[in-house]
Amino acid sequence: MSLTIRKIILLGLIGLVFLTGNLLLVANWLSDKGVVGWAKNIRTEYLTSTAVTIIAALLILLVSPRATTSGLVRRCPVCNHRLIGSPNYCGDCGSKVS
Ligand SMILES: [Zn+2]
Repeated sequence: MSLTIRKIILLGLIGLVFLTGNLLLVANWLSDKGVVGWAKNIRTEYLTSTAVTIIAALLILLVSPRATTSGLVRRCPVCNHRLIGSPNYCGDCGSKVS
């Protein structure tokens, strides 16, 4: 975990605490601006249960291709040369394999 990620998490936590502290104020403000009505309209028009199911299925199916090739046999991301074991560098083209 790098320092930037820690800073972002900290700022997010501070923002979350402020938001929950003024929850009623934020809800009234959103209602006044018409965001609540707009979101209700979007929910009834577009976010049907079928659409939610399809979105969830797509999120589950969307895995990064690197995760599937983990194991004993990996391939170089540059030249697609087969790497046996877990080397740091490709034996064929010499590029770094993370
Ligand atoms: Zn290579």
